[in-house]
Amino acid sequence: MKRNPPSSHDSAHSRRTFVRNMTLGAAFLGSGAAGALAAEVGEAAKGGERKLGVALMGLGLYSRGQLGPGLLRTKLCRFAGVVTGSHAKGAKWSRHYGFPERNIWSYDTIHEMAGNSDVDIVYVVTPNGLHAEHAIRAAAAGKHVICEKPMANSVADCDAMIAACAKANVKLSIGYRLQFDPHHIELDRLAREKDFGLLNRMSGEHSWTFVERAWRIEKSLSGGGPLMDVGIYVIQAACRGAMGQPVAVTARELPKTNPRLFNEVEETIEWTMEFPGGVTCEGSSSYSRDGNRFRAEGAKGWIQIEPAFGYGGLRVRTSRGPLDFPEVPQQSFQMDDFASCTLAGRESPVPGPMGRDHMAIIEAIYRSAADGGRRIEVRRA
Ligand code: NAD
Repeated sequence: MKRNPPSSHDSAHSRRTFVRNMTLGAAFLGSGAAGALAAEVGEAAKGGERKLGVALMGLGLYSRGQLGPGLLRTKLCRFAGVVTGSHAKGAKWSRHYGFPERNIWSYDTIHEMAGNSDVDIVYVVTPNGLHAEHAIRAAAAGKHVICEKPMANSVADCDAMIAACAKANVKLSIGYRLQFDPHHIELDRLAREKDFGLLNRMSGEHSWTFVERAWRIEKSLSGGGPLMDVGIYVIQAACRGAMGQPVAVTARELPKTNPRLFNEVEETIEWTMEFPGGVTCEGSSSYSRDGNRFRAEGAKGWIQIEPAFGYGGLRVRTSRGPLDFPEVPQQSFQMDDFASCTLAGRESPVPGPMGRDHMAIIEAIYRSAADGGRRIEVRRA
């Protein structure tokens, strides 16, 4: 079903929710690892630092539902333009978000952004198989790039994107919004401070029931099925819990219940990641059931996030009892952090090489599943 950009009522509601969330978020972010980010974003905003112009490339569901409204809630970004296949759609967005109509580009005129000083950052929100081409063309136009997850369809494409951004001297980050969510930041803290000991047994699932025919099940555009789409969140959480990259994986694809719909990609996949020091994570992802959880255990306790991967409504329980964290506007924090990194000349905490590492894990999982569950070592950069 097509949805329009949010109505002004939605926006007003969103702003109220945002003010509440920002207050809660600021309280939460006042300490710990994310404190530096909050302080820096706050200082830059107070200091009247120029806001960076962001152009969204691809005006589908995620841009409509999350990134457009999320941009309105940033402190260091401004909605500056769009890249879209439909000029009429772009004009509607220009009226709604108040950027000039001259800042509507098509996929064929990306290079013309080079001469436009309104846009500093291009946010690539197109199907996965187009990320590499679109990110490379945005970088060639001299724009910093945020690229949605998964970074691309292959490690080779990720490497090409990293090289193109380095050559153009622009920054590259991946749309890992949960990096900025307090529930997952608590997982980072437990991994680092070892309150529960080494988090050596992890498990997670991210699944949803997919019924429509769309690019997500066309392999050339999606790169794969639920693993590429949402299983990647389990991979990201496991790498955070283990504070590193797995050395090897094993995997198996489950028999398809709807082989006509899922004739190009997997319907359900299960995998095990082996990290150094005997740390493991059992992951699964499916397009034919719902599932949204992550758990990490050490010798002295455990943490469970369930639901774990949504835009909000996350819940944390631990062996010491439940923990209460505020909801934060994940996408706004993510975009503000990238703007802050760009202004300060720092690398993003979710940089291109992280997207590339996750793609190396995904490639190894698919190879193992195709090879009868053989143990496959994960390629190092
Ligand atoms: P969508 O299908 O709703 O939108 C895709 C957009 O790309 C559409 O506007 C479409 O017109 C455009 N497009 C350009 N060229 C196309 C082509 N050749 N074929 C099909 N569409 C084309 O998809 P979405 O849900 O918005 O997802 C877009 C990207 O964002 C994906 O990479 C997805 O993984 C990612 N995403 C991330 C999150 C997150 O939480 N970080 C959430 C949803 C989607």
